[in-house]
Amino acid sequence: IPALSRAESLIRTVADYPKPGILFRDITPLLADAEALRVTTEALVAPFEGEFDVVAGIEARGFILAAAAAITAGVGMLPIRKAGKLPRPAASVDYDLEYGTATVEMHDDLPAGSRVLLIDDVLATGGTLEAGRVIVDRLGYRLAGISVLFEIDGLGGRDRIGDLHTVFRS
Ligand code: 5GP
Repeated sequence: IPALSRAESLIRTVADYPKPGILFRDITPLLADAEALRVTTEALVAPFEGEFDVVAGIEARGFILAAAAAITAGVGMLPIRKAGKLPRPAASVDYDLEYGTATVEMHDDLPAGSRVLLIDDVLATGGTLEAGRVIVDRLGYRLAGISVLFEIDGLGGRDRIGDLHTVFRS
């Protein structure tokens, strides 16, 4: 689809951010473009049509895409937040980063059994989405699928997460 190819060309690769040696995929030019934002949002949810009750997004860039996807799909949105940001977290999951660990938290604002489509912007090592998957499970939600805007090959994310949908990949 030409519009999707055009959207892909709007993902900017920035060398040495946030650290030397890292090639950072910057999605802000894509977000700034009306057509690119619309077609990538549609591509994130299309394979899962009718299979989910809500979209969950991982802080912070996942929020942007998950909220857009929720409106496109006509469902609500659940934020998965970094530790300490939610007033009454119902679950909390620790996960490993390259250096150290991080924690995500989530509320239980929907009934157990709700079908959740989990969304993030970029898949690298898969640690973040793995934590998202664990916390969705811990709250008794059912994972309807995982959808990611951009998959970075060669960092092990695909092996770790397995079955997921990605719109673009390196
Ligand atoms: P992982 O946990 O898979 O190693 O890293 C993925 C998480 O880090 C995602 O939540 C994503 O937002 C962020 N991330 C890692 N690398 C990049 C990148 O190159 N670009 C962007 N935009 N985010 C990244």
